[in-house]
Amino acid sequence: MAWSCSGNSNAELVSNLRSAGQFTSDRVEAAMLAVDRGDFTPSHPYRDSPQGIGYNATITAPHMHANALQRLEGQLVEGAKGLDVGSGSGYLTAAMAVMVGSRGKVVGIEHIPQLVEMARRNIEKNHGNLLRSGRVELIEGDGRIGRPIEGGYNAIHVGAAAPTLPMELVRQLADGGRMVIPVGTAHQEFIQIDREGDRFRQKTLHGVIYVPLTSREEQLRK
Ligand code: SAH
Repeated sequence: MAWSCSGNSNAELVSNLRSAGQFTSDRVEAAMLAVDRGDFTPSHPYRDSPQGIGYNATITAPHMHANALQRLEGQLVEGAKGLDVGSGSGYLTAAMAVMVGSRGKVVGIEHIPQLVEMARRNIEKNHGNLLRSGRVELIEGDGRIGRPIEGGYNAIHVGAAAPTLPMELVRQLADGGRMVIPVGTAHQEFIQIDREGDRFRQKTLHGVIYVPLTSREEQLRK
């Protein structure tokens, strides 16, 4: 049970996640130390579990955020472009933005307008520069369609489970890019897609539990 990584502070949580092998990279550690989870959820921010953020959404558990950043570490380099689908609280959008440095850019896309605003307020607390510089762009929209850009994204993180692999998003990967995405309904798997030229390699990593990547109406109906 990943709760053993819980801490009393952001630094303790990050240290416990690293000791437990949830990530190995110094760059992931630096990003997770720079972005305090306490800015993104008022309830038990340093507990290694998801927390409700309203609108039937959750901030993903810290060990899953750590896993995702580790998987994308080779793509989240200085100057890279990232896409965070279902950006929710804004935590991972901010962490990705820290990793791509001042010449990089990360787009967070979220379909609940109140969560887009919440993410903006959360990031503003300690990382307003990411918003003002345009390194982070938070947009309201359907993440299943993504947001095509010239040349594609080096890293795509999907924070909600798609029933099947959304090809629209796969097509938005840059050459050499990587996407991590939970796929499935009753049973979900964390999937990694690597693009090499016109070839796409798909790897199934492990079972996961995420909120669904769905329509706004469906999400709010519950
Ligand atoms: N990484 C975020 C995850 C939030 S939970 C965090 O840790 O805060 C998943 C998010 O995906 C929710 O905010 C939900 O509103 C959003 N979502 C679900 N379906 C979506 C869709 N079709 N388009 C955009 N966002 C979606």
